[in-house]
Amino acid sequence: MPEFVCKDCGIRLYHENETTLKVETAIHKKFCRKEMGATHSYMHREAAHMEPFDAERANDGEGNPILKK
Ligand SMILES: [Zn+2]
Repeated sequence: MPEFVCKDCGIRLYHENETTLKVETAIHKKFCRKEMGATHSYMHREAAHMEPFDAERANDGEGNPILKK
């Protein structure tokens, strides 16, 4: 399974869909606090709306993650 380990905060992201993983990585970099152990509060909130957001991105992203407001 493709995975990404953030070198700034050490968090490990993984997803069976590589395109989705790239999107999650892009999102993480945007919100990364670059500090071990400081991420759990926002990560919990982030995970709550991650799935539908990723599904949309996975369809039109094609490995080229673009965040739109
Ligand atoms: Zn990070």
